[in-house]
Amino acid sequence: MTGNAFENKTVLITGGASGIGLATAREFAQAGANVVVVDMDAGGIDAVTAEFQANRWRILGLPCDVTDQDACRQAVAAACRAFGGIDVLFNNAGITQRSLFENTQVKVVRTVMEVNFFGAVYMTKAALPSLLKRRGTIVVNESIAGVAPLLGRCGYAASKHALHGFFTSLRCELAAKKVHVMIICPGFIQTNLQTRALGGDGLVTTRPQTRLGRQQTPAFVAARIRKGVEQNRSMIVFTLVGKIGYLISRLSPALYERLMTWQFKSELR
Ligand code: NAD
Repeated sequence: MTGNAFENKTVLITGGASGIGLATAREFAQAGANVVVVDMDAGGIDAVTAEFQANRWRILGLPCDVTDQDACRQAVAAACRAFGGIDVLFNNAGITQRSLFENTQVKVVRTVMEVNFFGAVYMTKAALPSLLKRRGTIVVNESIAGVAPLLGRCGYAASKHALHGFFTSLRCELAAKKVHVMIICPGFIQTNLQTRALGGDGLVTTRPQTRLGRQQTPAFVAARIRKGVEQNRSMIVFTLVGKIGYLISRLSPALYERLMTWQFKSELR
């Protein structure tokens, strides 16, 4: 842990009440940052706020649905009022879906796009003036599904590919202005994401999920994110399976499609 490397810095994390977002909130708080936790789960926000206050970590918990652009503007304004500005924006809030497209209503794809893609766009738009002033960092939580296909998750992969195109382009726009963009691509991480996955009908699915390799913990991911921000990393790929998959998808996209389809074929049934 880097002592107080983030003292007087403010880190705003969407989806900060659970999983990777919560672990990252703890990581930055321990490094001395003011942490703004934004999440649609108001009960989760209360729990995180109580935990942080008990540890004497500075926190502002804001219930907010990132699909509501006005709510995103208000959250950023509240963060700036409380702490003076934003140094790190972590676009992390996300949901997934698990169902073959032929069995999936289009509204499910739209919902996933609204949360994963437009949520990040709204937050970034609102926080950008402050990030420009402070020469801050935008961290984006993609997935291996942001850079390679994933069977049974067309909507999820589309939302993460959209993030990739958007934020790599934005990185080029902002480089001269000293705002950095770091993309993270987790593999399988132990969180609540899959227990909340939507099925083709838009309800939480009970279909079992294919998992590959050893899952990493959110705390491990969070420590790498904090270090990555310090080092101005452009992209971090997580888990051994994730790294191998990423490499194969770059070297031979056709081979990746065959291997991935074979691994996930039980989900075709
Ligand atoms: P999680 O379900 O534990 O946490 C997601 C958080 O986002 C929850 O607190 C939830 O309430 C919040 N959220 C969802 N919709 C929201 C909305 N509309 N507005 C505000 N908050 C909202 O799952 P996680 O795995 O920690 O997911 C975080 C991110 O990591 C997601 O973007 C996900 O795609 C990405 N990711 C996760 C994995 C994995 O294996 N867990 C792998 C790759 C990428």
